[in-house]
Amino acid sequence: MLTRRLLLAAADSPQARRAVLAAPGGRAVVARFVAGETRADAVVTTDSLVARGLAVTLDHLGEDTLDEAAATTVADEYLGLLGALERAGLAGRAEVSVKLSALGSGLGADGPALARTHLRAVCAAADAAGTSVTVDMEDHAATEATLAAVAELRADHPTLGVVLQAYLRRTESDCRELLGSGSRVRLVKGAYAEPDDVAFRDRAEVDRCYVRCLRLLMEGQGYPMVATHDPRLIEIAGVLAVRAGRPQDSYEFQMLYGVRADEQRRLADAGETVRVYVPYGTDWYAYFMRRLAERPANLGFFARALVGH
Ligand code: FAD
Repeated sequence: MLTRRLLLAAADSPQARRAVLAAPGGRAVVARFVAGETRADAVVTTDSLVARGLAVTLDHLGEDTLDEAAATTVADEYLGLLGALERAGLAGRAEVSVKLSALGSGLGADGPALARTHLRAVCAAADAAGTSVTVDMEDHAATEATLAAVAELRADHPTLGVVLQAYLRRTESDCRELLGSGSRVRLVKGAYAEPDDVAFRDRAEVDRCYVRCLRLLMEGQGYPMVATHDPRLIEIAGVLAVRAGRPQDSYEFQMLYGVRADEQRRLADAGETVRVYVPYGTDWYAYFMRRLAERPANLGFFARALVGH
């Protein structure tokens, strides 16, 4: 727990970022979790995953956009990416994941409206390309506004999906609001350091909430996206899907690029839809540190690579 907190703190530290970049094997290690820095890298990685029978969601890395021009640049990147996926014939198997903060939601009083305008443009481009958008969930301060933005835009873009985090005490009730037909909900445990009054601390409690939410989603009319690497939860999801009488194409599993690729393969071979969350872009550092925080065992992998073994 202490290691996790230290790594999450390092995710905000410019000094720690410089240390990773300066280390001889630093960039190579990051490549395990990040497709590359450019759109072309993202398309190449998508192509190879799709060729292996996997679906993809692409995330252009970047959080807490600091000015309007940067938010526009992020939105333009998504528009360019969606065009590139369509041209490469990949849009049927690859969608995009977007953070509202990257689209400018944090830019003062006008930020939320600006982010919605950008999100609307990204959704329209996804519709035109024949694919969908999922809005990532950030820390608890953003939950309410994110759900409101998604609810508003779903009127015109019904395939717009959203993430719910099982560590938040409010999430079971949010699930109940999102059980309607066509509702795409990605259920995750949650990746941010949150205070006790809004989030469960105990891992077992988070897991129990995850299962309660999974049951609701599987029994609902929507399209559950089971985003976890946890073997127990993956097994439970399969059982709940069967109990709810769901065919395999009425829900999907999702995992992060570079994490449990063997399990991704196993599920796909068993006929499940498996979507890999593929991040790309120059702003990879905070994302990378969160992956290390989730699984401090990866630190060993990191350390070995840095010394060249
Ligand atoms: P954990 O508790 O981290 O792991 C459970 C078990 O999984 C481990 O005990 C181990 O058995 C196995 N495992 C995990 N990692 C590995 C590994 N590297 N190798 C082998 N076994 C492993 N979080 C957000 O807050 N907002 C988001 O929008 C968001 N989007 C996400 C999208 C996707 C597609 C995914 C997969 C995750 C997303 N997350 C998001 C992150 C999420 O909240 C968790 O932090 C992350 O998925 C780790 O939790 P877990 O469910 O895998 O379980």
